[in-house]
Amino acid sequence: VALLALGVAGALAGCDGAPAAAPPVTKPFFHRAGTRQIALTVDDGYNAATLAAYVQLAEDTDIRLTFSAVGSVRRNWDPLADRLRSLLARGSVQIVNHTFSHRSLQTMSDADIRADLARNDRWIADAFGVSARPYFRPPLGAVDARVQRAAAEVGYTRTLLWQSSFDDSVLLTPTQLLSAAETALHPGAVVLAHANFPTVTHLYPQILQLIKSRNLTPLTVAELFQG
Ligand SMILES: [Zn+2]
Repeated sequence: VALLALGVAGALAGCDGAPAAAPPVTKPFFHRAGTRQIALTVDDGYNAATLAAYVQLAEDTDIRLTFSAVGSVRRNWDPLADRLRSLLARGSVQIVNHTFSHRSLQTMSDADIRADLARNDRWIADAFGVSARPYFRPPLGAVDARVQRAAAEVGYTRTLLWQSSFDDSVLLTPTQLLSAAETALHPGAVVLAHANFPTVTHLYPQILQLIKSRNLTPLTVAELFQG
């Protein structure tokens, strides 16, 4: 209801000659120039042990992580809710909306896009006590202007993509994953990783060392993009 009210206010504001206000949509976020900061983003959570290991990593180190949460696998997320709430409270992690169903938003109607993001937002609020707004990560990176407009109508005005990836949406060997990480960890990047296979959980010391040796500073997405 509040969003509808905002839409009406925007339309009314358009009467004075300014263009009628659509929800603000920005170019997708995936990189920030001129910094040694990075954002590590951890998607999906299809494997409970891997997701728990990422939470443990955030607890054990001062590394910042951004989780892209998917409500259809809430069975893996909900047991970690108390720990994630503590991490959220101390600013160590951020949660962004990766949709409830993890379907390609480009195949969905505007109404279905809004409903899916809103459903996931309600779960995130219930489980973790925060809203993921304004950031959403479109599954598969599938996004266009129509998807962005529909997402913005439910408060998701910032599209989060990535510049580089651990390539671990499929099962990798440790050697393959470390090689991908060596390529992915560079200044300013939003780096995509997944909590879907346990390979990465055995490589945290090496990954942290890579970050340190390159003088990179992991921040949350909100910190990296200051909003
Ligand atoms: Zn995903």
